[in-house]
Amino acid sequence: MTQPILPGETLGVMGGGQLGRMFVHAAQRMGYFTAVLDPDAASPAGLVSHHHIQTDYLDPAGLARLIGCSAAITTEFENVPAPALEALAVQRPVAPGAGAVAVAQDRAQEKSHFQGCGVPCAPYAVIASAQQLAQVPAELFPGILKTTRMGYDGKGQARVERAQDLAAAWLALGGVSCVLEKMLPLAAECSVIVARGRDGRTVHFPPQRNLHREGILAVTEVHEGNLPAEVAAQAVAAAEFIAQGLNYVGVLCIEFFLLRDGSLIVNEMAPRPHNSGHYTMDACDFSQFDLQVYTLAGLPLPAPRQHSAAVMLNLLGDLWLREGAAAVEPPWGQVLRTPGAHLHLYGKTSARKGRKMGHLTLTGTSPEAVRAHALQAAALLGIAPF
Ligand code: ATP
Ligand code: MG
Repeated sequence: MTQPILPGETLGVMGGGQLGRMFVHAAQRMGYFTAVLDPDAASPAGLVSHHHIQTDYLDPAGLARLIGCSAAITTEFENVPAPALEALAVQRPVAPGAGAVAVAQDRAQEKSHFQGCGVPCAPYAVIASAQQLAQVPAELFPGILKTTRMGYDGKGQARVERAQDLAAAWLALGGVSCVLEKMLPLAAECSVIVARGRDGRTVHFPPQRNLHREGILAVTEVHEGNLPAEVAAQAVAAAEFIAQGLNYVGVLCIEFFLLRDGSLIVNEMAPRPHNSGHYTMDACDFSQFDLQVYTLAGLPLPAPRQHSAAVMLNLLGDLWLREGAAAVEPPWGQVLRTPGAHLHLYGKTSARKGRKMGHLTLTGTSPEAVRAHALQAAALLGIAPF
């Protein structure tokens, strides 16, 4: 298909979480109609979309309705069942494609893809059977055992200090297919978001420096000096290689580890916009969600430009639960008085520990000023300094 899909037509999305909601907002702002397929009546994207198809992801009738109303379909989480994307792709343009999403759904496939692109990842072994378990090399300890499928926000993972602890850790994860990765000495973490169009042209955002706490993204910083320039350039080149190697169409995030010896190692990828790219909505002329719309619609991709230094704070459910059992709303009045504060809440009604409720992006003209304001907002919210 060569003709772009233009405003006035309907764009569909599999999944109704916050990423879908921000995609819907971006599409609607440009004059597209939107359709969301998500089983949850109160899904953040379903609540704001023109159409909400409230069925299971594999329900043939639901998929038929999505096809019926959408000119093209994207996805907002990587665990959309591959057969659903394949069924949709028979009738409509789907970006990213089922093949690329399937690679991202499986840590073992993902790592072989990285290696095939010449981008180094942490030393690892695949453990899908008791036999493979017995053959794990000693140099992978201490390691981190991760289920090959369905892990996110540090779920489906366990630290394994010694070889003799591995069998118990594997059983505790259900004895399912896993990878054991060597624990690496991290100096920092970073990520790069690229968007690749149907014509193969790739654009990217500046690399983000990310701080994770308890396996969940806590803070993203994007400004002059956030990363050594050569590391940033290397990360962008690697991300572009990885996207090309998948013949990817859409927005793709690649997460990296920066090791203490200065080397850059790829961690994983997300076949969609990413939490570490939320700052683009307030600090760039085009956001990662705008580019998701452009790639899906087959429009020529603009090269995004960052116009403000940015620090993003994730707002987890923990911030609502500070005072004890009952949830208490954070002090928005005070937070919104912080210079350069942009508040995004996802419309989730109940707060739980670790649940992503929203984010706050601080923008400004200098890294020093944004950092100072971000620390001020963090103190008001009860987020530990960084
Ligand atoms: P996401 O929500 O990003 O999908 P996830 O559940 O897939 O998270 P990972 O990205 O694999 O989890 O790991 C979460 C965090 O744990 C990393 O960002 C990093 O801080 C730490 N971590 C994971 N693997 C390693 C490793 N091999 N060495 C050191 N730290 C690691
Ligand atoms: Mg991760």
